[in-house]
Amino acid sequence: KILENKVAIITGAGSGIGKATAELFAKAGAKVVVSDISEKNGNSAVEDIKKSGGEAFFVKADSAKPEDNQALVEQTIKQYGALDIAVNNAGIGGPLGATGEYPIDGWQKVIDINLSGVFYGLRYQIPAMLEKGGSIINVASILGQAGTKYSPAYVAAKHGVVGLTKAAALEYADKKIRINSVGPGYINTPLVMNSLDEAARAALVGLHPIGRLGESEEIAELILWLASAKASFVTGAYYAADGGYLAQ
Ligand code: NAD
Repeated sequence: KILENKVAIITGAGSGIGKATAELFAKAGAKVVVSDISEKNGNSAVEDIKKSGGEAFFVKADSAKPEDNQALVEQTIKQYGALDIAVNNAGIGGPLGATGEYPIDGWQKVIDINLSGVFYGLRYQIPAMLEKGGSIINVASILGQAGTKYSPAYVAAKHGVVGLTKAAALEYADKKIRINSVGPGYINTPLVMNSLDEAARAALVGLHPIGRLGESEEIAELILWLASAKASFVTGAYYAADGGYLAQ
């Protein structure tokens, strides 16, 4: 098992990509700290992992709050004695609107969760990894490399995550901490599916040369590889898993 005895924090692990990653990590032998702002989703993810014979526990945390990120790392060390892997995945889509009309509070909320949340994660995860080394994966998006209309906060935050990942990776490259970002195309999760009607979903499919949206498990496989020693020479990188979206 490629993550045997590793301890991993996954934020936003109650749903979608985070949940699929938590399940895959547990199957790979990791002790998984499932973190989410939603107690209900987080607890049910832990139950599912335990039912399949994995090891996990839930910590409620709001990624937008520095003190919650600090407490999450502290509780992880208390429970499992170490931190080897962190996946900063929690994120929201935010409101849709043109930049010239975009709601100020919507902008702030998306930046707080999707960008500052990743910084707060790194801010407390890195010190906990300095002794033994580790691997951190930040979940960006294709929209961390390309723009789209009507989601300026999301696009800005995800571009920010890609840049922050490079900056932090350079600082810790010689300290055995690898830090990378991933860029999913549109994935079949509540984040995408709940906000779109059928016509909008069909239009999204058309943006992916592979002819369909992605599944959370397909992103989890990439995150697992980056988390594991198989990616031992990989740091500061951005990896897309996008059905060809960015190749166009
Ligand atoms: P999702 O909505 O299925 O799950 C997100 C989880 O994050 C939920 O369980 C939610 O409760 C949690 N969350 C929300 N706000 C939080 C906060 N402040 N603190 C802690 N947890 C919080 O979403 P998903 O599609 O699985 O997205 C996961 C990540 O992948 C996000 O960063 C998203 O931007 C990114 N992403 C998604 C897609 C996609 O098409 N679904 C594409 C590219 C990138």
